[in-house]
Amino acid sequence: MLEPIGILGGTFDPVHRGHLALAHAALDRLGLAKVRWIPAGHPPHRAPPHATVEDRLAMVRLAIADEPRYQLDDSEAKSTLPSYTVETLERLRRHYGPDRPLVLLMGADAFYGLPKWHRWEDILRLAHIAVATRPGFPLTGLAGTLADLFGRCRLVSADFSQSPAGGIHAFELIAGTVSATEVRMLIAAGAPDAKLLELLPPAVLDYIRRHHLYRD
Ligand code: ATP
Repeated sequence: MLEPIGILGGTFDPVHRGHLALAHAALDRLGLAKVRWIPAGHPPHRAPPHATVEDRLAMVRLAIADEPRYQLDDSEAKSTLPSYTVETLERLRRHYGPDRPLVLLMGADAFYGLPKWHRWEDILRLAHIAVATRPGFPLTGLAGTLADLFGRCRLVSADFSQSPAGGIHAFELIAGTVSATEVRMLIAAGAPDAKLLELLPPAVLDYIRRHHLYRD
């Protein structure tokens, strides 16, 4: 049996405990062999990141250092082209071959935005999607395109090993409301380390302080 590979893309501006909780829950509960963390270089759907791609990569590297099943994938970060998930999945599909289950991990907020992603319908031909709950983005009562998609592709149990792609599984994540936006705002407002350590791993906060990130 080919164990599924988890894929966690994001801006990681900065990486925070919510991202780590998501990846940890995915490893623990979705039967994944590993999680590839893929920081976006030039995210096309949002404002440019505040920190440089080098700083964002360095922070993810520090945050994931203690878990051997986490792997940093810098391919989007190193590219000068827009970071389209569908193209990253095409590359990973070539790398892992046609049979390996790939599982794209995302929070419910990202799932809400899926129908706006570049070639989004191809994404489920390339990978499964595992959606983690996130406060403010209920997965009950979805409407329109997303309701239809969820209805057609829903996997009730996290059994991704039966096929390489095409299923959507929702799972409960208790990661609180932490967001990178909140972290940036708290740092700019001069929040003390004790407050920021509730949201960030110590090594990431140390990096932010040493490089004077997010102060304005
Ligand atoms: P920002 O506040 O800058 O928009 P963010 O905190 O949402 O950033 P991203 O790097 O955009 O972080 O997120 C990467 C992935 O992690 C996305 O799929 C997002 O849904 C998920 N994620 C981030 N924080 C949480 C959280 N608290 N609970 C569940 N999922 C989360």
